[in-house]
Amino acid sequence: MARVALRGNIILPDEILKGGIIVLDGEKIAVVHPAGSAFSSEEGMLFDYAARYISPGLIDIHLHGALGKDVMDGRTQSLEAIAAHQVRCGVTGFVPTTLAAPVPWILAAIESVKSGQKLRPPSEILGVHLEGPFLNIKKRGAQNPAFINDANASRIDSLFKAARGLKIILTLAPEAGKNASFIASLKKKGAVISIGHTEATYEEAIQSFEQGITHATHLFNAMSGFQPREPGAVGAVLDSDKVTAELIADGIHVHPASLRMAIRQKGADKICLVTDSMNAAGLGDGDFNVGGLDVVVKDGQARLKESGALAGSVLTLNRALRNVLLWTGLSISQAIRMVSLTPARVLGFDHEVGSIQPGKYANLAIFDKDFNVIDTIMRGRSILRGKFGV
Ligand SMILES: [Zn+2]
Repeated sequence: MARVALRGNIILPDEILKGGIIVLDGEKIAVVHPAGSAFSSEEGMLFDYAARYISPGLIDIHLHGALGKDVMDGRTQSLEAIAAHQVRCGVTGFVPTTLAAPVPWILAAIESVKSGQKLRPPSEILGVHLEGPFLNIKKRGAQNPAFINDANASRIDSLFKAARGLKIILTLAPEAGKNASFIASLKKKGAVISIGHTEATYEEAIQSFEQGITHATHLFNAMSGFQPREPGAVGAVLDSDKVTAELIADGIHVHPASLRMAIRQKGADKICLVTDSMNAAGLGDGDFNVGGLDVVVKDGQARLKESGALAGSVLTLNRALRNVLLWTGLSISQAIRMVSLTPARVLGFDHEVGSIQPGKYANLAIFDKDFNVIDTIMRGRSILRGKFGV
């Protein structure tokens, strides 16, 4: 692949280079030029995106499905369809997420994630997020209670053996059963352990951070809430510098004021926006099934038919980004960090992806001023338009 140069408003972690130029060399970013600096046409053929944003490709570390397909289908084709939807939202890397289910189903889903990753779809599979089954049944949310159970050595072994070679995020309720006693060894295996679907007290949560929990699954949702004399898991996550946290920025799961306070408290380097999207994402309203439970999507809200509990979202990550810019006083660079560099750091892949920096993969999203996706560039290739420039 020849060298190409792209001109536009380049979103870096701390600033925007208006009219800057980035030079791509094959799959990687070679040079980043501020506007007005010496650029020679010998560096590469120049394509102009004018006032559009050139952003790092977005990264979603928590999503279950899209376009009628579910990670729990256990089918590679489903992952390809989900990846196709992601790339249309400017997402260049994602972490397929499983639900509480019979262990053989989770193992089949993990196998499909592994084979899906080998196919190198246009939005890359960066690992697997095991959201359960080691959760607190009382905070199950839309998880099927029949399949929630406590951690034990044989269950962990079978899941981790199946997922060998994949980066693992494991959501766990530390107060349930003997779950806490496994945190240190799971961390040693290289997994990111995330507190979630939990009734932990403040003290239990803080202790789990000492034991090795470094992340929090959808902060505020399915989690013991903040009370003045018992700050709960929410209070512990907000109080601790040791943990990063996910937020579902759809305005349904979390009130904009709660979201604003969480971001103000933890900062853009400790918050990852996620979609937690379910299989109806990208399809509109209707009746669906998630993990064996009936779900109705109406007016952009996905709820269990029986209890009315929220059952994931139909959010897209570029819309989450737009919401956060609308609801907070964050700069574009800060907001973008929560969907690129911070999730890349959580996964430990920030040396390769997550920001526009020489040496990293040329995974980029081109946005208009309202963060609609113009193109997604994956490892130096234009995926949506098939050509550079506008
Ligand atoms: Zn989820």
